[in-house]
Amino acid sequence: MITLHRAPWVLPISSPALADGAVIVDEERILAVGPYADLRLEGHDLALDHEARILMPGLVNGHCHLELSPFAHLGRQPVVPAAMTAWIADLLALRAGEDQGHGPTPGAALAALQADGVGLVLDIGNALLPPTGPAEGVDLHYVTELLGLSEQGTKEGLQTLDAHAAGHHFTCHAPYSTSRSLLQAVKKRARLAGQLYPIHVAESRDEVEFLQSGQGPFRTFLEERGVWDGTFTPPATGPVHYLAHLDLLDHQTLCVHAVHLGEDEIQMLAAKKAKVCLCPGSNRFLGVGRAQPEKMLAVGIRPCLGTDSLASNPQLSMWREMAILAQDHPGLPAETIVAMATRYGAEALGQSRQGHLQKGSCRPFLAVAYGGADPFEFLVRDLAPKELRWL
Ligand SMILES: [Zn+2]
Repeated sequence: MITLHRAPWVLPISSPALADGAVIVDEERILAVGPYADLRLEGHDLALDHEARILMPGLVNGHCHLELSPFAHLGRQPVVPAAMTAWIADLLALRAGEDQGHGPTPGAALAALQADGVGLVLDIGNALLPPTGPAEGVDLHYVTELLGLSEQGTKEGLQTLDAHAAGHHFTCHAPYSTSRSLLQAVKKRARLAGQLYPIHVAESRDEVEFLQSGQGPFRTFLEERGVWDGTFTPPATGPVHYLAHLDLLDHQTLCVHAVHLGEDEIQMLAAKKAKVCLCPGSNRFLGVGRAQPEKMLAVGIRPCLGTDSLASNPQLSMWREMAILAQDHPGLPAETIVAMATRYGAEALGQSRQGHLQKGSCRPFLAVAYGGADPFEFLVRDLAPKELRWL
């Protein structure tokens, strides 16, 4: 059946917003997008008028860890700002303990994301299989994360790689937690398979200090946990220069957080065509600082957005991520922020048929209840929960 959907605003994202716009669809795909006046005479079996609604693509969550959802209480209790190692220690203690937490199950957290407008998710976990059940109505991409800085940790990581077929998608946690040889082995494998390589980069000042000097809170943390064996030689550079030196940056490397970067490192990411995912809600919760999206956009990087996990964010809401980004960066246009939460996310994940509305892109898409003047400003700055339905 061919259906025409009409609404006061259609936001294709890959082309300008349409007042009194229309989208024509069949069961699976979008057949046409344009002004209602142009499309109303196109052939269709049914016409639906969505009064006071915005039609737009589903949101893309470029970074989360659904397996940590049960530890949601950690993401609600106060933290000492910028004390990342204390937060990591709390999380590891919880994960090692008997009590597996009282927050939502990973499957429930995924269902809540979908109900809140997310259609595409990149989920990172330590388990070999996705922690969720079958994902109804959401395109879930799951990646297993490896780490290990010591000789023993590296050996175990490489053994895990060898024990799994090339199709199993692995990535590495971060440059401060993973040895050179493991970082490179996982990237080599991802390159051969054409897979994305998402990695936490430049999240905290402590990370930068550790890579520069091998000292600071991360060194103390590793020693206290008994996993510092002295084999890691700090590169004495910033995290992006380090990754570039190891030949880990390309168009399928997704640098997550990217908070503490020098301008030369932002330039380097652009030159390598690396992707970036910002997590403003998690960064605010942990007090690690703010990324520099204006500088990234100025050199051609198109950052996407992610919620990170419920252990470092009181809510998994892409609307809230947009609102926090808008609060932290008043100069960023609302239209750009909506693109970051949709089209740029789909681009980062290599899903060209998602994140925008145009002929050939995938259903479903969103109809969001709307009350305001500018639709982009409404989506980004109105903090009330969004009432939405999938079309
Ligand atoms: Zn993360």
